[in-house]
Amino acid sequence: MGMVENNLSSASITSNLETQFIGQRVIYYPKLASTMDIAKREARRGAVEGTVIIAGEQTAGRGRIKRTWLTPEGGIALSIILRPGVRYLPSLIMLTSLAVVRSLRKVTGLESQIKWPNDVLINGRKVCGVLVESEVQGDTVSYANIGIGINANFRVSDFPEIPSTATSLSDELERDVSRLEIIRCFLVEVEKLYLTLPGGGAVYEEWRDSLVTLGREVQVKWEGNIVCEGVAESVARDGSLLLRLSDGTLKKIVAGDVTLRA
Ligand code: ATP
Repeated sequence: MGMVENNLSSASITSNLETQFIGQRVIYYPKLASTMDIAKREARRGAVEGTVIIAGEQTAGRGRIKRTWLTPEGGIALSIILRPGVRYLPSLIMLTSLAVVRSLRKVTGLESQIKWPNDVLINGRKVCGVLVESEVQGDTVSYANIGIGINANFRVSDFPEIPSTATSLSDELERDVSRLEIIRCFLVEVEKLYLTLPGGGAVYEEWRDSLVTLGREVQVKWEGNIVCEGVAESVARDGSLLLRLSDGTLKKIVAGDVTLRA
């Protein structure tokens, strides 16, 4: 690891962190199977909102639909326990992706884009995956945990399990970055965006404007099969993608079920 890397610990993350509740409690594991699993367990035990689970290295991280997400040493794997009103659930994937884009820009100067629904890309290559897992009882959100995996300080080519279409911050910059700074900045940005939700903040608009997907010809795949093809025309406020098919009709694609291919 290079000179810029600070030690990750609960104390180094929470110390003078300028948030009201997000990241005021951090549970840090040097090595863990999955931060999302621990977040679920902690949430079910009644952990305070804003609790952060973070791992220095993650061995069995999850993507969507039981896909795996690898976080080798040098990466960032982090989950936050939230309990928003049920009407804000669709905004969580948007605000999480946006907070990643903002903090990568602030800390590293790198510009990134969002690929619908849950990837963050740099120069077309995946640098971060975003996941939201929630449990709702009636009208009450028991918990809604957001998770990110950022490829920070490692060479993607050193890990055959990571697709060659991925990149890392250190691959892009040819130097290491401070994971600590990125994490702290991310927590601040998540809270800022989260607190704008009740006032009808501009999360949706900024998210839409950060999408690389719009205007592109895409294939929608489910379980390896192409289910439809069309031009990604727009996104709805609930986060779904509106696809213009070749017969001229508009089809609504809901996140969570499908994979997009350019
Ligand atoms: P895709 O990213 O291929 O469009 P997806 O967004 O549906 O698919 P996710 O569930 O977000 O996929 O992420 C899981 C996939 O990401 C895995 O199938 C694997 O190919 C890939 N992957 C795993 N670890 C990493 C990593 N560290 N960086 C980039 N990609 C990874």
